Amino acid sequence: MQENKWIKRIFVNRQLENSPLVERIISRLKPTPVKLVDRLEEIQAELRLATDPIAESKRVLFLTDEKAFIRPCPCSPGAVPCGYWTIDLNLNCPLDCSYCILQAYFSLQPLTIAVNQKDLESELGAFLASTRTKVLRIGTGELGDSLALEAISGQASFLIDLFRDKKGVLLELKTKTAAIDSLLVSPPSENVVLAWSLNTERIIKMEEIGSASLGERVRSAERAVEHGFKVAFHFDPIIYYSGWEKEYGEVCEGLLKKIPPASLAWVSLGTLRFPGKLREIARQRFPESLIYEEELVRSWDGKLRYPRPLRLRIYQKLGEIFKAYGCSDRLYLCMESPEVWMDFSKQNKKGEAFSFPFF
Ligand code: SF4
Repeated sequence: MQENKWIKRIFVNRQLENSPLVERIISRLKPTPVKLVDRLEEIQAELRLATDPIAESKRVLFLTDEKAFIRPCPCSPGAVPCGYWTIDLNLNCPLDCSYCILQAYFSLQPLTIAVNQKDLESELGAFLASTRTKVLRIGTGELGDSLALEAISGQASFLIDLFRDKKGVLLELKTKTAAIDSLLVSPPSENVVLAWSLNTERIIKMEEIGSASLGERVRSAERAVEHGFKVAFHFDPIIYYSGWEKEYGEVCEGLLKKIPPASLAWVSLGTLRFPGKLREIARQRFPESLIYEEELVRSWDGKLRYPRPLRLRIYQKLGEIFKAYGCSDRLYLCMESPEVWMDFSKQNKKGEAFSFPFF
């Protein structure tokens, strides 16, 4: 039995009640109560009654099937895309970040684990056979944390084995946890990248509830590197506050002193951005958070962002540090405009037009 700090109740799609993975997950979570349901709406009807339905949805697990797993990352209309693909194997996340876009994106979505792994295997085979991209990046961290439920589901280990022999495709597993023990019992795979979202200790403590500390994340990344995995980091969202320059600088320097450039696959930078509706939800759920009170402007895609000069200043400051460590070629900006990309690229790549390090 695993230590279960998240889940209070389990719902199972009745049609999958005899699936071996369902049985395994239920046995790992014993004695958590289990109920069979025919439809997601039955769970949503219960979630709707909670005082904080979003918080409640993070404590209820739904074991079901997924109809389609693989899709292109939606990025943001008009932003420079990075060609990422996502696998929707788990939906929602047991952590509770004040800035999490899923609060506005999901409506009463319980923590969901798709147990029809065979279907994913077939879909992936067909997808890879039909795609013409030379090197493809794909990951599970878009609609949840890739590893937060790993001890319960084993999905990341399954994916690592599934991708192990796939040429020209890089699987990224992205997390804010330190839950990598089970991934270190098997050999690493050249095309699997373990990734951590990083922030300053101040932001982690105040805004990323339930996540691992900065030290724990960096130590986990070091262990992954020692084991032979490539690693990646996402400074996203970067939050502007008095002292940001010093504190983000220290996080970058501290990281680059510990992670050898040869093991660093890529690093993304992305400042805070969100659709207006998230601010209303988050102000209610996290009244002590101050991240929504800085100057934010509506940008080309309708999202709120810091003004462009500030965003550029932040990227350039962090870019300088990566450049000093010889790693500026691993950097890319997430959901940024072509103008900001261009200005940032001038600094980092001596006037070259922007390009991605991994294509
Ligand atoms: S870890 Fe990611 S998915 Fe989970 S709550 Fe935080 S931002 Fe959302």
